[in-house]
Order: sequence, then structure tokens, then C-alpha cells
Amino acid sequence: MQKYDLLIKNGAVVLADKVENCTIAVKDGKIAAISTAEIAAEEAREVLDAKGLTVMPGAVDCHTHFGIYAPMDKDVNSESKAALTGGVTTMMSYFRTGAHYMNKTGPYHEIYKEALEQAAGNAYCDYCFHLAPMDNLQVQEMEWLVEQGVVTFKYFMFYKGLNLGANSTVSPTMSDCYDLGHLYNIMEEAARLNTMLKNEPISVSVHCEDDEVIKAFIKKVNDAGLKGLQAYSEARPPIAERVAIMKAGTVANATGAKLNILHITSAEALQATRDLLKIYPNIKLRRECTLHALGLTWEMLQGNNCAKVNPPLRTKADNEALWEALKQGEINWVGSDHAMTPKALKLDDDMWGSCCGFGGTSLVYPFMVSEGLKHGLSLPRIAELVSTNPAKAHAAWPKKGSMEVGADADFALINLDLEKTVHAGADFSAQEYNVFEGIKLKGWPVITILRGKIVYKDGKILGEPTGEYVKRPC
Ligand SMILES: [Zn+2]
Repeated sequence: MQKYDLLIKNGAVVLADKVENCTIAVKDGKIAAISTAEIAAEEAREVLDAKGLTVMPGAVDCHTHFGIYAPMDKDVNSESKAALTGGVTTMMSYFRTGAHYMNKTGPYHEIYKEALEQAAGNAYCDYCFHLAPMDNLQVQEMEWLVEQGVVTFKYFMFYKGLNLGANSTVSPTMSDCYDLGHLYNIMEEAARLNTMLKNEPISVSVHCEDDEVIKAFIKKVNDAGLKGLQAYSEARPPIAERVAIMKAGTVANATGAKLNILHITSAEALQATRDLLKIYPNIKLRRECTLHALGLTWEMLQGNNCAKVNPPLRTKADNEALWEALKQGEINWVGSDHAMTPKALKLDDDMWGSCCGFGGTSLVYPFMVSEGLKHGLSLPRIAELVSTNPAKAHAAWPKKGSMEVGADADFALINLDLEKTVHAGADFSAQEYNVFEGIKLKGWPVITILRGKIVYKDGKILGEPTGEYVKRPC
């Protein structure tokens, strides 16, 4: 009997601090050895020759939205395929009760179980969920949710005063008290639960945009006659991000909760996080940005309502400020904020009436390798940003995001010389368009491996959906 299930030979392996030619041995879905010494082919049932390829840890896309605008089971199925094409082997998805998603409200004891049932057997990559407690009863469910493997919670700063349920029979919050006090309660409970666990795995992720500032600016852009994505960007200006960041940070510091500031889009928002660290040196703060906040601007896409997203697209100067923060180590990870939004919900002649969000998970490695190398990031730093750090921050490490013996054998094998133009439809997503359409990227995954099995190769998804639920903390 062979000692290993799989050997990956001749690849340039991206380790934590260097890139080295070595052989990876896999046994029972886990990394069994990483060695610069020869491991004989006879020792394994299968040998994969990775000559000319760079072996990165499978990406952990920690910001996605399964089931937001499509039935949960179908969306998990199609969008997890898209993930594999981008070298993503774990998707972490936000979920809440209320409008969109499953259009249901009630206790997570019922609805979370239902969401898990719908996801089960449909995912092509591994997955887990972050949940948003929308009312006080759901805050009381956080302890039970931690037992179910949910250690990350979400709060939306902009839901409070905006009428976001106008086109729905169910309001997004289903609560009259969705305000800063509610965030305080969530954070207080998160901090309390952390004291009962090893390594404080629980954190609260906050979408930082202030609804009251947005309301005032919507009026300003309408009065000025602005249109399209410019109007949207200026209606939700960086100052709305700053105000929300300062509030969320103040509450996090007071409660001792770990705070993840999601999808920072602007130089101003970034500066606000620096200010927070100055005011509250002991704050437990992590910072995220997205592919589109690094690579797209409203000017590039003005008139294309498909690119409407919260927080909105900004300017080239903002993109560059975020790249600089990645280089300086200020931003901890990059996610896609993947939310498959059907074209039918994007109205060509009605920007305000179009739904927000779009897909992006299939570009996690292609975009970050292509643009990251151009911006002076090393391959180990890129792997840290899309795999190791998101896994650590969301308590999925060292099972996920780790190029170490004992970790899950999840890999993206990348051809650094392969140049392709982004086209909708090439990634198995159900979304009919791609906001990165026509952009040339260099460095694409050609093989994706999930727990030792080749699940994507040369443009094809292989086998059935074998993705598993990742119960955290790992
Ligand atoms: Zn999101």
C-alpha cells in the first residue's frame, strides 16, 4: 500500500516567507509532507506534475453572499463552481434573515438550520457562514450559533434610517431597534463569549456607511443633477464611511469586541481606521478591502448599472491608496464581496432602482496575482492576503489557509505566464455579466485542489459537489 494519496511534484511552492521548489505529499485530504528532498513516485497512488506552475494555498474568500438574489441551493451550486476557477477553495458567506436571502424572518435556530440544509450537497468548495443578528432574540442566539460553528457576526451601519425594503414585503431588518445600541449589544455578547473560548475566535464584521450622512448626500447629488455611478458614489461619500468607522470603532473599544471593518473603499476611510488606532491603541481591529475597490472606478464604468455596489466604486486615487495600504501591511485581507446579482435586477435606465452587488470570486487569484505583482506585492504576501489572513481572522486556520503539514490539502496551481481577458460566462457563475469584462489579467489558476482532490482543471469542473461545512473555530 502506498504511503500517500497524491504527490505534487516540480511546482514552485509559495510558503509563508518564500517560494521554493518542493514536493507536497497528501494523505487523507491533508498535507502530509512538504519536502525539498525527493519523494519517490512509487510512494503515492497519484502523481501530479506541476512543472512550470506556482502552488499557492487555496484562497479563502471570506466575503461572499450565497443566496442573496437566487435560491440558496442553486446559488451555492453555481457560485462555488465560479470560486474554484479563481483558486478559491473555501467560501465564507454572509447571511441574515429579512428581505433577499431566504426572505424569512424568525429565530436562527430554525432559519440557519434550513440554510445549512439547502447548502449541503451543493457546494463545490468548502464553506461556512457569518450571521447577522437582526434583533435582540437573535443576539440571544449567538451562544447557540457559536456551538454550531459560527464565530463571526455582522452588523450593517446603513440599515437604520434608510427605507431599503421598499420593493419587498419583508423589511431587511425586521426590527425597530436596529441602531448603534443594537450593535453595542452584539459586540458586548461577542466579547462575553470570547472570554469563554480559547484564542478569542469571535469577531464582529461591520459594513461601515452612515445612513444619516447618505440621506443628506442623496439630496445633494439629486439637486446637482448627477447621474449614474458618479451619483451613486457621491451619494454615499467617503465621509459616510468615516463617520460609521469612528462609531463602530468606539463601540468595539468600549466592549472589547474584535472588529473587522469590511470593504474599505477610500483613502478617507483608510485614514479613519488609522485615526481609530491612534485614539484607541488597544482596539482589536482588522481591515478588509475588495478586488473591485482595488481595480475599478466609477469613471471606468459610468453608465453601467451592473457595477452599482455598496460601498460604491471610487476613484483611481482611492484604488492606489488601498494598494499602498496592502504593501504597508495595514489592510489584513482581500475578499471579493461576491454577490451573484442577475442582470434582470440591474436596470439599464434606472441606476437608483438597480440592485447592489456583483460577483467576483472567480477573479480572486487572477486579479490579485496579476495586479498584486504589478503593484510590488510578493507571492507570499498575496497568499497571506487571500488565504492565510482571512482564515486566521475568521477562525478557520490552521485547517484552512495554511501551507503546513496537517492542514487541509487545498491548493491553487497557477500559471504565472498565462494571460487571459475577463469574459462573463467563463467561470460557471449564474451571473450573465462581469464588471471586470475586457480587463486583461496575467496569472490564472489552471488546477484547483480541494482536500487532495483535483476539482478544477484546464477550464473544467471535475466531479460532483464535495464541499464541506467548515465548523469553526478550527
Ligand atoms: Zn458584502
